[in-house]
Amino acid sequence: MSLQVWVDGKHVDKERATVSVYDHGILYGDGVFEGLRLYSGKIFRTEQHMRRLFDSAKAIRLQIPYTAEQMTAAIYETARINKLTDCYVRLVVTRGIGALGIDPMKCASPTVFIITDLIAVYPKELYEKGVPVIVSSIVRNHPNALSPRIKSLNYLNNVLAKIEANDAGVPEAIMLNSAGNVSEGTVENIFLARDGVVFTPSLSEGILEGVTRGVMIELCKRLDIPIVERVVERHDLYICDECFFTGSGAEVMPVNKIDGRLVGNGAVGPLTKKLTDAFHRYVREE
Ligand code: PMP
Repeated sequence: MSLQVWVDGKHVDKERATVSVYDHGILYGDGVFEGLRLYSGKIFRTEQHMRRLFDSAKAIRLQIPYTAEQMTAAIYETARINKLTDCYVRLVVTRGIGALGIDPMKCASPTVFIITDLIAVYPKELYEKGVPVIVSSIVRNHPNALSPRIKSLNYLNNVLAKIEANDAGVPEAIMLNSAGNVSEGTVENIFLARDGVVFTPSLSEGILEGVTRGVMIELCKRLDIPIVERVVERHDLYICDECFFTGSGAEVMPVNKIDGRLVGNGAVGPLTKKLTDAFHRYVREE
């Protein structure tokens, strides 16, 4: 049986799971989404993901036609049908089918779909040694244009940063905000460490409030590792001892080189190792 995708309440074969060319999600990137994970058959941090989804939808004046409980049940049902207990989940809500023209009021009802599938953001072997990255010339969305806290279907600037990384022959790019300070990766939050202190850009730096970021901050506190949310400058990237990305898709990915500068001595550092181990233990325990 082909992989089943949940589309507006029905299970559809992956090959037949399509949306209309009149859907404003396609025509205007008008919609929101979530990326979640199932570990050992359980959705990791359901409430936080659902909260962010509903917050994102509220910010763009999109009324989701299901409750968080209904969508959670749909995720579990879809994963069960696909016999998946450890997988990635993509939950998308678009403005729905409408007329040509931007007006969202002309869309009758949102389109909702759920994909449960395996994901490999990076090849497995890279997790051992980390990835080299560049700092992108593409600036992260200004919060007054489109808040990066909205997980919207508008990812073009992140896509352009990823293309820049591809052109440079590296797997990922770090994006700066309009003030020239560090925001995040194209699909992950970023953490650095220097002299035993872990730090990460504050929410006010124009970043997505990552669920994995929140878990990492909690784990630092639990392990008595000093953690600070602050302004992070490009220079901090060049002189840090350790650096890693966090995200539901990528999980924890060490960074070993930034714009040609080795991170520490280029090997995965002790705090990164400790936090990565703690993260993998935690997601199975919770
Ligand atoms: N930043 C961006 C831009 C992202 O797309 C993601 C992935 N959702 C993240 C950070 C990480 O967020 P989370 O830990 O909630 O997956």
